[in-house]
Amino acid sequence: MFINNEWVDSAAGRTFESSNPFTGKVWARVPEGDAEDIDWAVRAANEAFENGEWSEMTGSQRGALLRKLGDLITENAETLAISEVIDNGKLIKEMLGQVKSLAGWCYYFAGFADKIHGETIPVEVPNMINYTVREPLGVVGAIVPWNSPLLLTLWKLCPALAAGNTIVIKPSEVTPVSLLEFSKLVEEAGFPPGVVNVVTGYGETAGDALAKQPKVRKIAFTGSSDTGRLVLKNSAEHFARTSLELGGKSPNIICEDADLSNAVNGVLAGIFAATGQTCMAGSRVLIQSSIYDEFVKALVERTNEIRLGDPLNMDTEMGTVAFKGQYEKVLKYIEIGKEEGATLLAGGERPNDEELKDGLFVKPTIFGDVTNDMRIAQEEIFGPVVCLIRFETEEEAIRIANDTEFGLASAVWTKDVQKSHRMASKIKAGTVWINNYRKVAYGAPFGGYKSSGIGRENGWYVMEEYTQVKSVWVDTGNVITDPFKIL
Ligand code: NAD
Repeated sequence: MFINNEWVDSAAGRTFESSNPFTGKVWARVPEGDAEDIDWAVRAANEAFENGEWSEMTGSQRGALLRKLGDLITENAETLAISEVIDNGKLIKEMLGQVKSLAGWCYYFAGFADKIHGETIPVEVPNMINYTVREPLGVVGAIVPWNSPLLLTLWKLCPALAAGNTIVIKPSEVTPVSLLEFSKLVEEAGFPPGVVNVVTGYGETAGDALAKQPKVRKIAFTGSSDTGRLVLKNSAEHFARTSLELGGKSPNIICEDADLSNAVNGVLAGIFAATGQTCMAGSRVLIQSSIYDEFVKALVERTNEIRLGDPLNMDTEMGTVAFKGQYEKVLKYIEIGKEEGATLLAGGERPNDEELKDGLFVKPTIFGDVTNDMRIAQEEIFGPVVCLIRFETEEEAIRIANDTEFGLASAVWTKDVQKSHRMASKIKAGTVWINNYRKVAYGAPFGGYKSSGIGRENGWYVMEEYTQVKSVWVDTGNVITDPFKIL
């Protein structure tokens, strides 16, 4: 693990294994950190924040370190991407692009590092000046899931460090490797000891300890809604600020006047990219009745052509599910869908090709004739399973889209500009894509409504989440005449 710029074993000396979901073989053994290691990392991070070299650095010096980190990510993109692909079965084709894009996050937030400032407030009290200062919070605890460990860490680390905080990262036990590889770049970039720390371990032990650690001033969590609820309760004990990026059941709405070929691609990208294991997956596709049959025919045809294969092969279009437990969960939901009376239109089983026999593959699966009250339409499956739901009118599409506990993302496909904005204004979700799906950028806020989370990542919005405001009052007249009269 990487604590205080040192490479260390866990205090208890325990380790755990990480398996490659394509081969089924163990490919890495990493330290199993627990509460003792978390305490150690938080102490190091707190010391760096309070007294270390980091606490004396200017914004532009912090920005320079972040820029250097961005350069190193670009130089080492392939190693980082491969480590993530082997850990979670995502496509190398996607991961090479994703990892390279992370340098952009470093540069964007490096730009904020020397531009964080307060305001002067007109208080209308004679001889008084009030000004504000925007200050860092202290130690940030980042808890991240297995589907995009590096990306979801950088979304937290970049703004946290730009603002002058320090950070302790707890990767998922399913994908510990890429963040350890990444720590080598932190070291090479020259961050002072304690600024960035990575503790690998299980959620119930290391993750739980991080959420409960009283010196942690902010928890930035990405994961499931159930874990998020627990993390929020634990961090509330010491009033740590908490941002939660949670699950979704996002509606992808295809209106009859959409460009159908683009919309088919948007549906495929929305649900089958990353084998459906993205929080923003467009897992409910709402299709207007007048085009339902035509659209479904094109979608099923293209879905049946999706090439499953080795995630490290550039021609592969869909990789594996990330680990055994998730694989079993996806298969269980396919059975639930059949029992609920949905029509299986594609997939629904594992492939029987010899080349894929050791991998955790599930064929891309489409359920037609789904009603929004079915469990497969309400519960997050987090796999390559899409529900097709009919609608008649714009109003009905909005009602179905919003009839969910989640509110992370959504999309509307239509050529009618007025309708697209009208629908965007009525959908209760943190993101609405119009005629596209799955786009993210460092400048664009991302986060959820309802059970999909609290807070926003990216853009200036997130800088507010990693800073706190101090109000300073200055008496320029030295005229306190009545000590008991405040206003
Ligand atoms: P998870 O909730 O099981 O685990 C997430 C992280 O929390 C892991 O590091 C895990 O070790 C840790 N954890 C588990 N129990 C904990 C506990 N008691 N206390 C503290 N930490 C604990 O989620 P997952 O299965 O790794 O990821 C999939 C989920 O993440 C899905 O629901 C998905 O929608 C969500 N997700 C959301 C976003 C977003 O930005 N909204 C992005 C990606 C994934």
